[in-house]
Order: sequence, then C-alpha cells, then structure tokens
Amino acid sequence: MKPVERSHKLDNVCYDIRGPIAAQARKMEDEGHRILKLNIGNPAPFGFDAPDDILKDVIHNLPTSQGYSDSAGIYAARVAVMQYYQQMNIQNVGVDDIYIGNGVSELIMMSMQALLNTGDEVLLPSPDYPLWTAAVSLSSGTPVHYRCDEQADWFPDIDDIKGKLTSRTRAIVLINPNNPTGAVYSKELLQEVVELAREHNLVIFSDEIYDKILYDSHKHTCIASLCDDVFIVTLSGLSKNYRVAGFRAGWLVVSGNKRIARDYIEGLNMLSSMRMCANVPCQSAIQTALGGYQSINDLVRDGGRLKIQRDLASTMLNDIPGIHCVKPKGAMYCFARVDDKKFNIVNDEQMIFDLLSKEKILLVHGRAFNLSEGVYFRLVFLPHSDVLKPALTRIGNFFEHYQQV
Ligand code: PLP
Repeated sequence: MKPVERSHKLDNVCYDIRGPIAAQARKMEDEGHRILKLNIGNPAPFGFDAPDDILKDVIHNLPTSQGYSDSAGIYAARVAVMQYYQQMNIQNVGVDDIYIGNGVSELIMMSMQALLNTGDEVLLPSPDYPLWTAAVSLSSGTPVHYRCDEQADWFPDIDDIKGKLTSRTRAIVLINPNNPTGAVYSKELLQEVVELAREHNLVIFSDEIYDKILYDSHKHTCIASLCDDVFIVTLSGLSKNYRVAGFRAGWLVVSGNKRIARDYIEGLNMLSSMRMCANVPCQSAIQTALGGYQSINDLVRDGGRLKIQRDLASTMLNDIPGIHCVKPKGAMYCFARVDDKKFNIVNDEQMIFDLLSKEKILLVHGRAFNLSEGVYFRLVFLPHSDVLKPALTRIGNFFEHYQQV
C-alpha cells in the first residue's frame, strides 16, 4: 500500500517546544526516570491554582452550556473583553470586534489564515513564540524575522525592521510582554512601530497574553491604545494571567482603522463560523476573570511567588560561568545566552539533549524560537523555589564540566 505522507504545507512548519527533545523526555519517563520539565509555560501543574471564582463559574454554567454558542463567542464574554480594552482607552471597540477562541493558539492560526496569500511576508520577532512563525508558514505566507536586541533589553531593532520591509510585507507581529525574552516594550518603541505600520500600510498583530505578568513596576502598554488610524489585531486570553491554560479560552480584538479591513474581518467571521464556536463552558469564565479580583498581582509584586522565582532563576543563571540572562521584566521565562566558545557548542539542541540525559531537566534550545545566531536556552521558572533552586544548581554543575566537541 502507498505510504500516507504529510502534506507539503508542513515542510516549513516547525514547533519545537513540544518537539523531539520533549518526546525523548517522555520516553525517559516511560523508562522510570523523573524529569523536571521546565519547557512549557503551563502554570497549573506547578501549583498555581486558578482563582476560585473562575472554577465556580465554569461549574455553575456547565449545565446550561451544552449547545453551540454564537461563533464569535458568548455575549457576556465579549462585553467583558470590550470593557477591558475600553478601559485601556481603545475607543472604537464594540462587541462585534471581539472573537473568542479555543486559546490564543487557535486565533493566531485564524488570524493568519484569513490574511495571507502565497508569498505575502509577515515580520516576526526573533526570537519569537514559534507558533506565530508556524502559522505564517502554514497559511502560505513567508515569515521574515526581525532582530530583537539582547543588548537593548531585547527590544525590537527598528532599523532591522525597516531594512526588511518589502512590497510584499503585509503585517508585523509583536509579542509584548515577550515570550521567550521577558521584554516589556516601552510606549516610545511601540509608537515607532505604529509609525512604521502607518507609513507602510501594515497590519499590527499584538500578542499580549502576558499583559498582567509584570515585575518591578513595569507598565504594559497595549499598542492598540496608541492610535486609531492603523488596523490592529490584539490577542490575549486566560491561560497565563489566570492560570487556566487547559480551559482553552482566548480572545482576539480588532481595532483602529477597521474600515480598510472590512474584507479581512469578513474572512475572520467565516473562519470562526467554520469551527462553530469556542468551548462554551469556559467562555463564561472570561467575564468572571476580567471583572474579578486580579490575584495575579499578588504573585508578581514584591514578596509574590512568581517574582521570588523570577529573581532566583535569573540570579542563579547569571552566577553560572559562561551563562548570561537579561532579567525578564514580564512573563514566566528566562532566556539565557550560553558562551558557545567556552563550551565548544556547535549544536544547541544537542546541548539540551545532553542536559536532559545527564540531569533529567528539560529546557528548550534557542533555535526553537527562530533565532539564527548564538546559543541560548529558555527556562520556565514556574516551580516552587525549593525545586527551582536545586535544579539551577544542577544546571550549573552540568555546565561546569560541559564540552560539546
Ligand atoms: N502566545 C504566546 C506568546 C504564548 O506564550 C502562548 C503559550 O505559551 C500562546 C500564545 C498560546 O496561548 P493559549 O494557551 O491561549 O493558546
């Protein structure tokens, strides 16, 4: 019989966060090893429970959530999202500008599928959250990566962006606060991006899923609040700020110059109706989450659990000779540079395999984030300090003796 092969659409699609190294870790677990998985930003398994109100809400609404909802989402959730963005001074957002999805992931895919024709270019950060690059490729677009500058707190390099604009550039993607680098962009930087988008007719896609996970009084600016004449798509959801990644609840908001985007918006409407609707019981949690007590603030303030773990992870990583990590300002990751000369590293994925075999700790290599230069890894700092501390000591021990070639 003829082999069943994957489609060529997948030839350039890559999502290595759950790739071959994670598969190797699963195999080792099957063999009886205990693996410390610091590869995925999934708060619940590390004891970050969701606010009670959210759980109660879903349980309460379960019996009446058996049917499909409106494709764009239940009314109450969309009103809550609308009000959330109105409070941020995004004036022209109405209920019909909100789409609820099965997590931001689904909406990223839809937002790119609705936009791109073969060869259309999208500017994406490097490093990036790789689903964005994968979504562009799967939608027949061409990902073009712009440089984020480690020396400048991982801010996007505006000159690099300018140099990569072509007549085929349709859009620019921002991830703010950033995964994997933890950067939180200033208003000034965002204004420069708006300026570029205005001048070159670009759509701005802004993934703001970590907008409440901010340390050291850093402020988040929603780029959509900075202008009303550029078409902007903002995405966020419950997975991180409210620790319910398994609920698969996210939203997409269209704002700014919607007149020029009528056709695109019709495309979004069609795609959202083709998948019927997002998970209905969990949509009800959105109103409760956005309107209720914001317990995430207790986790990120001085003395809060996430902040303590962020400090511990970045300090201990920087104490390892040959490792350097810009202290993350937001999100839940440390993105650390490894001195490739000191450790003779030619392959960063091999380095992560070697760490897994030796120390039973799973990280993600830098190239998985569409970074073409340097050796890096991403570490999730979600475990309690009493787990994180010995793990970082073991990572230090590993590098003390590591020579790849
Ligand atoms: N966007 C970014 C920047 C992320 O880091 C993640 C998950 O790690 C997602 C989107 C996906 O989120 P969701 O769980 O809402 O699909």
